[in-house]
Amino acid sequence: MTSLQNWQELLKQGINNTADLLSHLQLDPVDVPEALLPTQPFKMRVPLGFVARMQIGNPHDPLLRQVLPIADEHKLSSDFTRDPLNENISNPVPGLLQKYKTRVLLTISGACAINCRYCFRRHFPYSDNNPGMNGWMAAIDYIRARPDISEVIFSGGDPLTAPDNFLATLANHLASIPHVTTLRIHTRMPIVLPERINNEFIDWFTGSRLKPVLVTHCNHPQEIDTSVAYAARCLQQAGVLLLNQSVLLKGINDNVSILTTLSNKLFECHILPYYLNLLDKVEGTAHFDLPQTTAIALHQELLAHLPGYLVPRLIREIPGKPSKTLIR
Ligand SMILES: *Cc1c(COP(=O)(O)O)cnc(C)c1O
Ligand code: SF4
Repeated sequence: MTSLQNWQELLKQGINNTADLLSHLQLDPVDVPEALLPTQPFKMRVPLGFVARMQIGNPHDPLLRQVLPIADEHKLSSDFTRDPLNENISNPVPGLLQKYKTRVLLTISGACAINCRYCFRRHFPYSDNNPGMNGWMAAIDYIRARPDISEVIFSGGDPLTAPDNFLATLANHLASIPHVTTLRIHTRMPIVLPERINNEFIDWFTGSRLKPVLVTHCNHPQEIDTSVAYAARCLQQAGVLLLNQSVLLKGINDNVSILTTLSNKLFECHILPYYLNLLDKVEGTAHFDLPQTTAIALHQELLAHLPGYLVPRLIREIPGKPSKTLIR
């Protein structure tokens, strides 16, 4: 019998229905008529520690709005589709996506600690794409056979929903491939469940010859509290390069002052802004979308408020391109 780790307990305790979430925030469902109570198939899900950073009684709270299912999700819009990134065509081995020449992405786990309403994951069939340990060895063989690949990205879902012994085993195999130099993890855990960043994780992540890079996903300065800052400091002191990507979201962070504060707070945590993503046009997310011209104007203004190294690159993902597409 193995006992669950603290972070796994916290994961289980997360709120998974709208009624409980509204009740936690002392909101009367009558005052939030757009909220959806049953939410199949993309369930509501949010850790209690993240809920604690929401403002009590505020139905417009920017953290709440990232996780609250609302009726607008059922509005269809012709240019918002189920797989806008065409991920099915770049999936040569189960669990592995290669779109770019020098780096591959492993979809380590379909699960997340939080379900973000704007996410492409609401439709992607990750459950069909977890190949089991034999399958992961096929992914390792694919990487071993391709000397152009220098960087492997653990992604998902959230790869840090997987246990450390499994992740450490994969990392060991990767470290045995001479042309792989860098192990990057894309995860929202340090933000939404910072207790996940424990010694066991840091030990394997920084314990091999691979250069460790961790890209967090934080959209709003209110997501950063002392627990997040502590996790970031532990990672930074262990030698992990910390970067952040955000998604530009209407009604959440489409504002120069919010984005400026976000960059400054990330910097206090030794995290450098990396990408500001334009929304992928995923069915059910049109209410978060902003015109590209608005995004460009916002980004232009950011340059006046921040040193260049704290301005994230404004990008969008266009299927079939050899990299992300730099808008500015
Ligand atoms: C975004 C992405 C990457 C990483 O791209 P960078 O520009 O290096 O951050 C790699 N592989 C896939 C499939 C991606 O979607
Ligand atoms: S993959 Fe990232 S953005 Fe999508 S639901 Fe999970 S944590 Fe949120």
